[in-house]
This record gives sequence, structure tokens and C-alpha cells, in this order.
Amino acid sequence: MAPPLFTVTETFKPVREAKAALANPGAPAPRPKTAIVDPETTAATEPAVLPPLGYAPAKPEAPSPDAASPFAAVVKLPGTPMIELTRPPPAARSTCGVSLANLGVMAIALAPVDDGDCGIAAPVAVASLDTQAILLSTEATLECETAERLATWMHDTVQGTARATLGAPVTGLRVAASYACRSRNGLPDALLSEHAKGRAIDISAFRVGDRWVEVESGWAQGGDDASFLKAVRQSACGPFKTVLGPGADNYHSDHFHLDLAERRNGRTYCR
Ligand SMILES: [Zn+2]
Repeated sequence: MAPPLFTVTETFKPVREAKAALANPGAPAPRPKTAIVDPETTAATEPAVLPPLGYAPAKPEAPSPDAASPFAAVVKLPGTPMIELTRPPPAARSTCGVSLANLGVMAIALAPVDDGDCGIAAPVAVASLDTQAILLSTEATLECETAERLATWMHDTVQGTARATLGAPVTGLRVAASYACRSRNGLPDALLSEHAKGRAIDISAFRVGDRWVEVESGWAQGGDDASFLKAVRQSACGPFKTVLGPGADNYHSDHFHLDLAERRNGRTYCR
């Protein structure tokens, strides 16, 4: 048997018991108040191993891949996925599978995320865009509309900008954040972030051809990389309702924050 993980030592024996033992050394020692954790018997109550960053906790739902499901089309996209998706399709699925597949998005439907004020009713984990031409550094957990918007903007606008300014297409995105249950900028009294609804993504670098153009350093050093980043940032305002980046505030110096926050009259906030 494995040694106990944790044992309360004699040092912690209550003073009263220690005094009693000294006064009457022949008496049987009181049962030690030990806290022994047997990993085998307590395994079921231990917190589950945390899922990879960006994933919602998988709920134990019956794996029942439904051929008629709209998401079947996504799962069956040809080619080898960048990341092996081992989780079974959850019972409650996103309804945007077909539209994402038509946009060339490689994604999988996740179980609904219900985390207090945060959550996504029908989340998807996006692994790549543009028929796997653009790989994501880590799967982005987003709600449908945000995933669609990202795919459309990248395909229709950013690819052309990359070719025109840097002579090569975008081949990857470094995802700094997607779904996250937190307030705006992580401040305690702030409103809930769009990240908490899966309606925001943070991008810290674009892979163009075979090199990374980082938002922070590319923006600062000027030249073609800065021209590309500025054009990309400008073009995101409209497709996305909030666009923040270097210079906006102290929280966005190293990434672009793009979200679909709903405002009166569909107004945008781009800084
Ligand atoms: Zn953000």
C-alpha cells in the first residue's frame, strides 16, 4: 500500500492529551487523530484533473454520434486535424456545425458551459480556419456567431491584407484567450467580459507564411509588420463590435481583443 499522503504528527496532538499522557504513562494512548488520505478510496471525491486551457469541463454525457447531426459534417472534414479531439460529441450540440463547415472551420461541438453568470449554451472548440490553412495555437472555445465571424473576417479580409502587405497568407493564429469566466480586464467590480459568454477572442500573434508577426513587437517596430497589424485591426472594427489593442489601455498592449458586445444601434467601440 502506498504511504499516506498526509498524516497529522505528534507535534499537533492537543495539549490536553499530551498532558494526560505525561500524568499517566501506563494508560493506553488515545487514538491518534490522524488525517490519512488513501488515494484509492478518495479518488472519486478528488477534483477532476483540469482540462486543457480553453476547454470547458467535459460533462459525462453519453457518446452518441448522430449521423444526422449537423455537426457530423464538421467531424468528417477531410484531412488530419491539428489536434486530436478525443472527447465524444456531447448530447447537447451546437446548431452551427453546417455553417462552420461551409466556412472551412474545423471545430467540434462541446457540452453547454454553465458556470454561474458565465457560460455558453452551444459552445464549439475551433481548431483551424480556412480549410486548415490557418491553425490555431490552442483550440478556441467560442459560441457560434463569434466563430463564424472570426472565420469570415479572416478569410475575406485578413488573408488579402497579409498577401498585399507581407506577400504571404496567414497560416496561424496565436490565441491568448477565448472563453473565460471573468470580468472585464479581470477587475473585481467590472462588468462581465464578453469572454465570459464565449463572444470574444484575444489574438497575440499572426503567423504569416512561416514566421510569427507578434502584435506587441510588430506594432512597436513599425515597417510592413506594423502596416499589416494596423490594417488588420482597422478591418476588424465592424465585423467585431469591440476592437482593442496596443495603445487602447494597459490591458491590451500585447494582443488584439475582438468581441461581439451588443450596443445600442449596433455601435462599435474600437480603440
Ligand atoms: Zn480579450
